[in-house]
Amino acid sequence: MSNLNLEELAGLSPFELKDVLIKSASSERGRSMLNAGRGNPNFLATVPRHGFFQFGLFAMTEAERSFIYMPEGVGGFPQREGIEARFEIFTNTHVGTKGVDFLRSAVSYVRDQLGLSAGDFIYEMCEAILGCNYPVPDRMLKLSEQIVGKYIHSEMIGTHPFVGSFDMYAVEGGTAAMTYLFNSMRENHLLKAGDTIALGMPIFTPYIEIPELNDYQLHVVNIDAPPENNWQFTRKELDKLLDPKVKAFFLVNPSNPPSVRINKETLEYIAEIVKKRPDLILLTDDVYGTFADDFVSLFALCPYNTILVYSFSKYFGATGWRMGVVATHEDNLFDELIAKLPESQRKELDARYGSITTTPRELKFIDRLVADSRTVALNHTAGLSTPVQAQMALFSLFALMDEPQAYKAAMKRIVRRRKIALYRELGMEVPHDPDSIDYYHLLDWETIGTQMHGREFMQAMMEQFKPNEFLLKLAEETGVVLLPGRGFGTAHPSGRVSLANLNEVDYARIGAAVRKLGSRYYAEYLAKGGKPADDVKPVPGDKKVKPAKRK
Ligand SMILES: *Cc1c(COP(=O)(O)O)cnc(C)c1O
Repeated sequence: MSNLNLEELAGLSPFELKDVLIKSASSERGRSMLNAGRGNPNFLATVPRHGFFQFGLFAMTEAERSFIYMPEGVGGFPQREGIEARFEIFTNTHVGTKGVDFLRSAVSYVRDQLGLSAGDFIYEMCEAILGCNYPVPDRMLKLSEQIVGKYIHSEMIGTHPFVGSFDMYAVEGGTAAMTYLFNSMRENHLLKAGDTIALGMPIFTPYIEIPELNDYQLHVVNIDAPPENNWQFTRKELDKLLDPKVKAFFLVNPSNPPSVRINKETLEYIAEIVKKRPDLILLTDDVYGTFADDFVSLFALCPYNTILVYSFSKYFGATGWRMGVVATHEDNLFDELIAKLPESQRKELDARYGSITTTPRELKFIDRLVADSRTVALNHTAGLSTPVQAQMALFSLFALMDEPQAYKAAMKRIVRRRKIALYRELGMEVPHDPDSIDYYHLLDWETIGTQMHGREFMQAMMEQFKPNEFLLKLAEETGVVLLPGRGFGTAHPSGRVSLANLNEVDYARIGAAVRKLGSRYYAEYLAKGGKPADDVKPVPGDKKVKPAKRK
């Protein structure tokens, strides 16, 4: 292990470094590894999945009734006529079966609460689940878009005033959304090589890595949300957005890894800036928004300027489904900027999209995104797999119908309890931040070391630490794998603990492992003649620890 070059490892993305850590964590036989590096949740929503499978069984009866039944295994398309009545017979004959009651309520919700045609919905779902047609419309199936739109509205906008409607594009997860967006922004000249974008830091690492790629060659300005400011952007940092050179501001809210949502004042301050910068593009990745109560997205405050990205991966435990959406307001800046491009560029784009429409200038940015996802020429096969869209509609209905918000409360309880277990074994008070959603937690080595063994000790450590050294030792000596907070753009050496991926007892073991390693370092420090701690007692909620000067 010691022959691993720490300097070389510093250049790896946190997700690559994780593989190195896993290797050293599992090198000791007879000891189990604890990998808290994974953002993938170990919980999942069961009810809407039961609903999906039951709907699938009904869809099969539809497929087999529309052809004369053939023993070779050939069926046909579902038929719209009478489908509602047949569905009712199906659910009535399966009362008590898991998922069936949910489907009955869902259909009634679609009809009575959302005012949509129940028959159309059942038909769309059957076709989608059977996957017997290309996705039409390619951007998103019609009723699914309305249903998922209600869910997005309820979770991301809530009671915030919001005029007009928004369009959605169903995509293969939040990461696909990022890939498509970077690409279409470039193709449509919204971002070009040499342009400057701002990134809200810390941030999910691909947002740091993609702009640097040769494909994009973007300059990046960091907008910091420092721990001293409870992980909120400071006004001074946000004021960097007033520079007209900054074309776009990309952020994750609630953040990854600090898992803190932008508070109301800060959101309003960003909205103030946007008033002064009406040409500023905002891209907000609100994957974790649903883990918060009364979450309000920047999309609610600045709909004209904002592209919203949402993924079902985390909240529903659905990373394997590859399920997300991109939303833009019907009336938006991106269409305006494209319309204002110089004539030569507009002509070039007319040619690009001329094969899919006779009026390419009317093609909205979001529809360009769909076309670009299949290199325009294959636009007729674009769109998210229809069974995925069916499950997406059912996830959305499940959340919409859960008026007491019992599922959300369960999600919050799970991660919160794990954080408490972690801190119990660390021997420290659980830090409290009302804006924290606790999906991840950053252990700042300096704060923790100081609380455990005093300032002098920690200052000595900070001077001798190499980047990622503590993480490597933790993996090697205790089998605990955490991701480096540094790679996500945090200033302090820290470890990202995902509270989503392991059981409560494992977090207690992680807390104990960190404590043990800290004590070992302290013993070494004392043995070398270091001054003992003046105050070894934990200092609850001590956020004012002065950062040591690093060399
Ligand atoms: C986990 C995560 C994603 C991943 O989304 P997928 O839908 O699984 O592709 C996107 N954005 C952020 C900020 C994440 O943490």
